[in-house]
Amino acid sequence: MKLENMYQEIILDHYKHPHGKGLAENFDAEVHHVNPTCGDEITVRVTRSEDGKLSVSYDSMGCSISQASASIMYDQINDHDFEFGEAAVDHLIAMLQRSVDADEDILGDGIALAGVAQYPARVKCALLAWMAWKDAAIQAGFSNSTSVNDSDESNKE
Ligand code: ZN
Repeated sequence: MKLENMYQEIILDHYKHPHGKGLAENFDAEVHHVNPTCGDEITVRVTRSEDGKLSVSYDSMGCSISQASASIMYDQINDHDFEFGEAAVDHLIAMLQRSVDADEDILGDGIALAGVAQYPARVKCALLAWMAWKDAAIQAGFSNSTSVNDSDESNKE
C-alpha cells in the first residue's frame, strides 16, 4: 500500500471513530474556534490535575481532516503537561509548513496529516483543534506550569 493511501486510511479511521470526543463537565477554560473557510468548529475544554497533566475534552464538527485532527490531538496531548502539548503543536505547524520532517514520537497518527501541506486551504482544518487546545490552556493559565501563583504580568498577544 502506498504511504499516501495508508495516511488516508488513518485519517478516515479517526474521522469515523473519533477518540475522546465529548465535553467533560469539569474544566478551567473553554474556547470555541471556527475555521470559516471550511466551516469547521470545535469547542475545547481543559483542566489540570495536581501532577500538572492537562486533561482535554472537545466537541467538534466539520470536514474529515479537522475531525481526524481533533481525534489525533486528543490522543497525543491529553494527559500531558503544557510544554509537551506546545511542542507537539509547534511540530505540527512546522510539518505543515514543510520545514521539518514528521516525527511520529511527537505527533503519533498526526504524521498522517503531512499530506495536507500540499493543500494550503486545508492547513487550517488540520491545525484547528491544536490551536484551540493551546488557546484554552493559555486562557486557563497553564502555559506557565511551574508557577501556581499568578504573577501580575499579563502578556497576551
Ligand atoms: Zn475543514
